[in-house]
Amino acid sequence: MTDFNPVAAAAHPNRLRIITEALQERLNQDRKWGLQNHPDGTGATADKTRSTKSRTAADKAAADGTLTWKHILQEEVDEAFAETDDGTSALRTELLQVAAVALAWVEALDRRTGIHDAALANIHIVE
Ligand SMILES: [Mg+2]
Repeated sequence: MTDFNPVAAAAHPNRLRIITEALQERLNQDRKWGLQNHPDGTGATADKTRSTKSRTAADKAAADGTLTWKHILQEEVDEAFAETDDGTSALRTELLQVAAVALAWVEALDRRTGIHDAALANIHIVE
C-alpha cells in the first residue's frame, strides 16, 4: 500500500465509524471462535468460471444501468474465490477488495437511512 493517507481517511467520520463497527465484529468473532486457521478452499476451475460469469453479469448490468451492490460484491467475492495463496498477494488483495466493497455498501445503506456522523460519538469498543 503506497498511497494510503490517514488524514484523508479521517475526513470521512462515517467511514471511520463503520470500520470501527467492523473491528468490533472482529473482536466478537475472536471471542466466539478464537484464532481460526482453515484451508482457503479457493482456486477451483468452477470458481474461475463463476468469477468470469459474475464479471460479465456486472459489466452487463453496468451497461444496462441496472448495476446493484449485489453485482459488485458478488464479482469481488467470486474474484477472491478464483485466486489461491500462490506466493503472490492476489488472494489477499481480492479479499481486501471484498472487505472494501462491503464497507462501501454499508456506507451507502447509512446514507440511505440517514445514519451520519453524529453516531460517531456513540462508538465504544468493548474488549
Ligand atoms: Mg477484485
